[in-house]
Parts: sequence; structure tokens; C-alpha cells
Amino acid sequence: MRYGFTLLATASAVALAFACSKEASTPPTPAPSEAPADAAAAPAEAEPMGEAIGHFHPKGKAPSKHTIAALEKAGGTLPLSDRRDFEEQAKGFIAAPDYKKIMADAGNVAWDMERYDWLVEGENFESIHPSTERQSKLNMNYGLYEVIPGFYQVRGFDLANMTFVRGKTGWIVFDPLTAAETARAAKELVDEHLGERPVVAVVYSHSHGDHWGGVRGIVDEADVRSGKVKIIAPRGFMQFAVSENVYAGNAMNRRLFYQYGVLLPASPFGYVGQGLGQGVAAGDSGLIAPTLVIEKGVEVHTVDGVKMEFKNTPGAEAPAQIQTWFPASKVFWTGEDVTGVFHNIYTLRGALVRDALLWSKYINEALYRYGKQAEVMIASHHWPRWGNERVQEVLRGQRDLYANMNNQVLHLANQGVTINQIHNVYQTPKGIAEQWYNRGYHGSPEHNSRAVINRYLGYWDANPATLIPLSPADSAPLYVEMMGGADAIMEKGQSLHDEGKYRYAQEILNKLVQAQPQNQEAKDLLADVFEQIGYQQENTGLRNSFLAGAFELRSGIPTGTSPKSAGPDVVRAMSTELFLDFLGIRMDGTKAEGMEYTINLVTPDNGEQFAIELSNATLTNIKGYQAEDADLTLTINRVDLEQTMMGAKPLATQIADGTAKVSGDASVLKKLGSTMVDFEIGFEILPGTKSAAEVEDLNPYEVGPIDIHGE
Ligand SMILES: [Zn+2]
Repeated sequence: MRYGFTLLATASAVALAFACSKEASTPPTPAPSEAPADAAAAPAEAEPMGEAIGHFHPKGKAPSKHTIAALEKAGGTLPLSDRRDFEEQAKGFIAAPDYKKIMADAGNVAWDMERYDWLVEGENFESIHPSTERQSKLNMNYGLYEVIPGFYQVRGFDLANMTFVRGKTGWIVFDPLTAAETARAAKELVDEHLGERPVVAVVYSHSHGDHWGGVRGIVDEADVRSGKVKIIAPRGFMQFAVSENVYAGNAMNRRLFYQYGVLLPASPFGYVGQGLGQGVAAGDSGLIAPTLVIEKGVEVHTVDGVKMEFKNTPGAEAPAQIQTWFPASKVFWTGEDVTGVFHNIYTLRGALVRDALLWSKYINEALYRYGKQAEVMIASHHWPRWGNERVQEVLRGQRDLYANMNNQVLHLANQGVTINQIHNVYQTPKGIAEQWYNRGYHGSPEHNSRAVINRYLGYWDANPATLIPLSPADSAPLYVEMMGGADAIMEKGQSLHDEGKYRYAQEILNKLVQAQPQNQEAKDLLADVFEQIGYQQENTGLRNSFLAGAFELRSGIPTGTSPKSAGPDVVRAMSTELFLDFLGIRMDGTKAEGMEYTINLVTPDNGEQFAIELSNATLTNIKGYQAEDADLTLTINRVDLEQTMMGAKPLATQIADGTAKVSGDASVLKKLGSTMVDFEIGFEILPGTKSAAEVEDLNPYEVGPIDIHGE
């Protein structure tokens, strides 16, 4: 049985990667008939839960008594008497739409709140951490809310909130969501209940795709060009909107299957949300370049009669970000620097590690600069905080959360605690942990503490045995042999599993699976272990990762359509240098052995030129130079090159029809093309999970998929 990747983009974390695929269709839950044949044949061993909803996977297990006990114990430590989030989440509610699904223009379901009906209707799920269940329920707010008169938010239409600030003549919109379809629907809801008004300005709070991709749903680019609509963004926005995720883009997209559980149906046994919100819309993402970039640290602008102070906060939650202060109404917009969760210092799908100390300092500045006066605090995710006392409390709490993570992890590291121990040693202080907004729904104390050490000391724990270790598949057979073989490991693994010692069980079962990738019995037992560990997690990224691992061990990874490359707006925003750098990554060095070429690239319409060299099986480029002895000079307008960059028109065709001009040895391009590899998203993470993958036709001049989501 094949799953199409685009089909499964519905869990939608990868929606952006697939944004340009017109093949996307999105049944939210794989029907039983779609389950792999081998899995379907195996009956579930455990008793089904005493709940109406069965497990979505034939091999899936209910939570064990150990898991139920662990979650009960965890529930006992939660500050359940603090119900302020529920009041804040519901306050100011104006209306919900009469639909729960938003369709994409391409015909698929772009957004679906119906898939969480079971979550709203049920309670105390034994397979979901009680804190996670609470957060996912809070994230089910859906509709239009008034923050204070003149400030409104549409929530639950996408991963982020869309905020509307009333100007003299129209709306200033903060963060137009991920997809044109959801942003358009949000604007229609506002029109319906608050009266139709034009959008006069859009503010992108930061460079992550869930905060700008839907801009074309509410703004006509011609109005931006004519000056009728302003687009405001932080310093560095355009660069980072596209560059953050190109170089390792394919690996990041694959890892999204883990962090965001892309293959998992929404279910008590599967996907329950992302902590920040319920998911990412699977619609059409576009990008209109800003017309007002906030270059200075702080700038004050009045737009449509609304005075706003913008403050850049680069290099914390995102490489480009602004916070906004509204002095007249005493509203503070945090962007995504302060939300209702402990955010990621390290993003599990793969990203550069963020600076927790700098993040904390930005929050402290916000506290001292705005927080002492602010009466309301709003953000790009979750719900507002009303009243100065509450605003200050949340700012202080979040400041301390990020500072404590940074400082206390380094405190421990300076006493010898390593990256391989810190997650078992670092303890969140009680005062921090008992604030709901500090809990690890998005970033966990476990994976964030490792990130801090990684940032300052790197991945090595300084034990020579881990410095140049064997690869797992090479060391595992020796372990298996020394442990007495597969049967002995299975027996011990089963008994550890039955005792609820899941992290011990994974240690030895992982070795067996690494040594024997085709041992399905071992993979199934490891999957059972992963599943129980997953159920016990409060953090959605950890939960999804363990449950995704279980899914792939049981069913294998699906094969199918490769995601399509990035849309035209994103490619236009990508520099030629970034494109050429990425070609150097796509080049298979072993195929380039012995090749030596120099190419001059000229793009007359933007006045750029590059010298590109292939030598020592390595492709390099330098902007602003031309080689004197180039084998080939390629002249093509940047606007035409973009067709090649997005895979719409191969370079060979551009040359054949005269769009691109070559002088010198044209065969160089063909030889260079023969070294290029199209990355496939379905590479194996866990051993023995790869089914017969189909290799797509290689197009040597096509840029691979780009994920523009950076959460
Ligand atoms: Zn976001």
C-alpha cells in the first residue's frame, strides 16, 4: 500500500513544503483499508481502550497500566486550580463561523477543526498527558475575538493568530497566517461581524512562514505597489523568510514527520496538536515583499492614524522579528517572543540552536520598556493577557524561564554535566513549572536543555569513546552477539516493557533493530515501547516523534509523490547566491571527481555576476567576480533564471529557445547537471522501514523542495 506524501500533508506541518503541489488531497484520517497489508493482518494484542475511539493502527496499543499511573502522577503535580487561561481564552468572543473546514483553492481541505471533535467531546484521555490535553483544548478556540475595542483576533484558523487593529480608514493586519485561503476566510469573518473595511497595512511579526504565507489572501499586490497598502517587516525579513531552511531543507522536511507527526491521524493515540496551535494550514502560500522595513532597533511609525513603536528582536525566536507597542491603547504585541508555552530553543525537525539568554533579555526589555504600562498583551499564538499585573507576571515568568534554562544548564555543564546527561539532571524550578504559560508544550525542558549545551559546547561530551564512534548499524551486531543474541534481547526487552521500564527497553531493542533491520518482531516490540513513551510526554514534539517512530516501525515509511518545489514568491525572494550554494549541496561529489570547470554567470537584469568553479569534487561560487579563463559564460536574466530555480523550465530549454545565452563549451552544463541529485523525502530514519521507494525522474536543474516553516 502506498501513501502519497501530499495526501498525508494533512497533519499539515509540512503544508508549506507541499504548498505548491496541486495534488494535495487531505483525508484527515487514513481509512483502515489504507493501512499496510502486513499490518492489517496482525491483530492488536492489547485490549482496546474503554473509550469509543479505537486505535487507528491495527498494531496500536492502549496505554499500559504503567503509562496510566505515570500520567495520573503527572496530573497530580499540575496547577489545576489556576483557570485563568480558560477565562482569557474565551474572553471577548464575538462569533465562530458556521463551518469547521476551510477548503484550499486546489480542492483539498486546507484547514479542519472537525478532526478534533473527539478532543472537545472527550475528557481525561488515558493516552494523552493531562497537561497536553488541556493545552490542546485551549487551542481549540475558533473564531473572532475582541481584545479591546479596536483590537481583534481571529484564532483557530491556522497555526497562528491573525490580529486586526482598527485604523482610521481600514485594518492593520498583524500576521496573515500560512495560507491565502485561511487568511481570506479570517478577513471574511471580520467583515461579516465588524463591517467591511479595507486592509491598509500588513505587519509580518517575523520570518516564519505561518506569519506571512497567507498575505495574498487579503492583499492585492498592485495595491502594495501603488502604496495603498503598506507591508511592514523586521530587519532581515526577506533574507530569513526563505534562507533559514534551504540548505538542509530535505532533511528538515523528513524530520517534520517526527516532530509534527505528519503521518499520525488526529486521535487520542496519535496527533493531538502542536502546542502552539492545532496545525498548519495546507493551502496556497505566497509572499509580498515589505515596503517598510524596520531597520533601526526601535522605530515609531503612525499608520492610518495608529501610532506604533516597533522594536527589532533578532536572533531569539526567529532570526528576524519585531515586537510592537501601541502607546495610545497600552497594548503590547509580543510577536512570538512571548506566547503561552515554553518555546523551542532547539527545533526537533532540525534547526540552528537558538539563544535562550538573548531571548530572555528581549523579554526583560519588553517588561521594563512596555510591561510597566501595558494593560493588554497579545501575541501571534494563544490568547491575550489582560491587566497590568497579569502582563507583568507573564513577562517575568517567561523571562525567568529562558534565563533559567540558559544559566542553570551552563551551571551544571561547568560542573561536568554533559549533553548526554543534562536532560536527566536539569530541573525546572517550581515557580516556573507551576505557571501554565511556561510549560513545555512546544519546547521541552529535556530537548531544550540539551540544546543549550549544544550551543555553547557542541555535540561532544568529551568522552573519547563518543568522539568518533562506530555507526549504530556497525556497533549493534557486536552488542547483540554479546547480549546473547536476538532471543535473549527480545525476552529481556519484553520483560522491561511489561514492567513499564520503557527507556531501558528502548536501549536494548534499538540495538537489536539496528543489527537486524528486517526483524519485524523486534521492530514491533520497539514500536510498543516508543508508543508508551510517546503517550507519557507532555511535549507535543516528543510525543509525535515517539508515535511517528512507532508508526514507521510498524508500517514502514510510505512512498509516493515527492513534494513540489517552492512557489514563485518564495523563489523570487531567494538570492542567486543561495541557489548556487544549494547546487553545491545537491551535487554528488563522487560523480564530480576529476571534473574541473569554471563558469561565469551573468544576470543582466539585476546586474549580478558570479564566478562558479568546480574543482576537487566541490562546487563553489563567488558573487561580484568573473573568471578570466572561464570554460563557459552563461547569460540569463534573473527573472528567467527563476523559472529554472522553481523547476518550471530546465536550463537546457532556456538555452534551446534563446532565453539564456552561452559562450564557450556548452557541454559543461550537461556534465555539471549529471552530478546533481534530487533529494527524496522518504529516506530511512529507523532501520528496515524503507519500502520500495520510487525514484523520481532526475531534473538536474531543478531546485528541491523548500520548507519555509521555521517554528
Ligand atoms: Zn508561529
